[in-house]
Amino acid sequence: MKLKSYANGEWYKSSASGIVLRNAINGENVAEISSKGLDFESMLEYGRNIGGPALRKFTFHQRALMLKDLGKYLMDRKEIFYTLSAATGATRTDSWIDIEGGISTLFVFSGKGRREMPNSHVYVDGDQEVISRHGSFTAQHIYTPIRGVAVHINAFNFPCWGMLEKLAPTLLAGIPAIVKPASQTAYLTELMVKHIIESKILPEGSLQLISGSTGDLLNHLNFQDAVSFTGSASTGLKLKNTAAIVENSVRFFMEADSLNCSILGSDVEPGSDEFDLYIKELTREMTVKAGQKCTAIRRALVPAGRLDAVVEAMIAKLSKITIGDPVNESVRMGALAGLDQREDVLDQLSRLSQDNEVLYGNSGDIVLLDADVQKGAFMSPILMCASNPTTSNAHDIEAFGPISTLMPYSDETQAVELAALGKGSLVASVVSNNSEVATNLALGIAAYHGRVLILNSACAKESTGHGSPLPQLIHGGPGRAGGSEEMGGIRGVKHYMQRTAIQGSPDMLTAVTGSWLRGSSRNTDTIHPFQKHFDELEIGDSITTGKRAITLQDIEAFAELSGDKFYAHMDSEAAKRNPFFEDRVAHGYFLVSMAAGLFVWPEEGPVLANYGMDNLRFATPVYAGDVLQVQFTCKQKVNRETEDYGEVRWDTTIVNEQGEVVANYDVLTLVAKKAG
Ligand code: NAP
Repeated sequence: MKLKSYANGEWYKSSASGIVLRNAINGENVAEISSKGLDFESMLEYGRNIGGPALRKFTFHQRALMLKDLGKYLMDRKEIFYTLSAATGATRTDSWIDIEGGISTLFVFSGKGRREMPNSHVYVDGDQEVISRHGSFTAQHIYTPIRGVAVHINAFNFPCWGMLEKLAPTLLAGIPAIVKPASQTAYLTELMVKHIIESKILPEGSLQLISGSTGDLLNHLNFQDAVSFTGSASTGLKLKNTAAIVENSVRFFMEADSLNCSILGSDVEPGSDEFDLYIKELTREMTVKAGQKCTAIRRALVPAGRLDAVVEAMIAKLSKITIGDPVNESVRMGALAGLDQREDVLDQLSRLSQDNEVLYGNSGDIVLLDADVQKGAFMSPILMCASNPTTSNAHDIEAFGPISTLMPYSDETQAVELAALGKGSLVASVVSNNSEVATNLALGIAAYHGRVLILNSACAKESTGHGSPLPQLIHGGPGRAGGSEEMGGIRGVKHYMQRTAIQGSPDMLTAVTGSWLRGSSRNTDTIHPFQKHFDELEIGDSITTGKRAITLQDIEAFAELSGDKFYAHMDSEAAKRNPFFEDRVAHGYFLVSMAAGLFVWPEEGPVLANYGMDNLRFATPVYAGDVLQVQFTCKQKVNRETEDYGEVRWDTTIVNEQGEVVANYDVLTLVAKKAG
């Protein structure tokens, strides 16, 4: 089978002979791969001219719904992917991380996109900035999608997840992608892309696939494009230095090797729950995906006094790991992705052996279930121990397989120093049940890591584990790990958008952002905005309410009703001793309640519910005798695509007769759409 590429709206099969890809378990041919003959420049143009505009027609929410539909479509077909995934050497659990873990990133980004982004084309970043004395000149940061193509160059170890975790934020941002999977396991990515294209859920041009080399693609990138690379540091560095990438300041995100560590806290005694957790987690990270995970624990830091106990427990665990063909359900660890990969790992092992002693496992004979070591890329887990943890080459050599090195440490300061010798990693874990130990270690190592897991028995049951990047959290790390970030919720979407500070008059900025900014005009026509349906409401629709005088009886009645008899509301002399008040002050929550009494339209109408308030601040104290009124303005509308209502955010400002702002906040309501 010759793998195809999907380019310029068509499937393309190269007529050139390609590299033969072999089954990791039995060495049989799975596919051949070559991209020779592809016109890479035209693929970029196709993405920019067809995919980009098609995606950008949709709002963030509409694209988020696409991701959800795509997730459901792929999940319905997951068994097809599991079947082929076995050829990569993966067990069912390994494939679950790749296939269902990958699909779940689509669901997470879909949910976050609809909850945390507006249903529009502009993402407003942060608050309006005050930059002029009278407010006629203001500023707001916004994000809009870049106008190019995102090139995703992925590693071989997660052919599905590696594609989907990048596709989700890219498509949500509104950017078309060209995906280039690592050749070794590209047959599984190709299969998934075939199903994605068949689904017709994504607009044409938003996804293209290169099966094989990228040819001269990178030479044609411009400043509106982005590259997201996952792989070895050496390849990453080479690609990052492509002339077009350097000269055009192309965004280049790099997720590279990482010598992740896990630290056993000095408080943890053998036999405790935390000790068992450490052993379990280390065993899992060595053996899941046969250690071919960028987040796997490569360096296991343990207090010197616990070394013997850890070694004994690890050997007991590792000796129970069954290795072989994952079709056999009792197999716990499958094969590496290919014989070349095993060669690489064995090379690294021999280098590691110069500084570190092998305590368990070997590079030769292993007992396999239903498999032949000559044909499949099998190897045993190998546990090593650094003779001198400070100078060990295990801080520099990433053996991308089931190999970990134990490193005894004397105290927390040394543990932090050893962790830092990894020169920047994706993740570290600290296993401790002592908050002081955990805090010292976590804060000591945080600057060298993108993610830190603190594990103890209190969170173990629900913990997702050391090695699982989550779409909600940053995946990436400083230094050697590449210095970039992926995922991290909406942060990951912003990587594919340009942040721009827009300056101008409030009215102009309201028009640009689609969100009412302070100082903008208010539309105060005769109809109360609560009488308008979602579709009829316009940004800036506003009322200025009637006035209400605050009395001492109001303050006392509210204190009685709520039970809030804080001295500053009840006792004039005590209130005067308070540096902020001149007398008995009205309850802030009374003001918010009385404001609703002023601005609501009481009759049954399109407004269905008040679901909260944001950014409430009490700015000026209110005393008996003050007269207040409310300015209430439609600030932002979020259309709920699949509901018969939308969300409306109202700027709410309570002012006194001197024109001072007493309180300011956003009221959040659900408003019905007009039937039909
Ligand atoms: P690799 O050899 O560096 O390859 C990575 C990707 O780059 C592959 O798609 C590869 O394609 C492509 N590539 C290689 N040379 C290229 C070139 N000249 N132009 C364009 N593309 C090129 O890495 P790998 O062996 O696939 O993956 C293992 C490494 O990835 C490990 O070091 C691991 O730590 C790292 N990794 C990191 C993360 C992370 O998130 N930080 C995740 C997974 C893996 P071909 O296969 O076609 O050569």
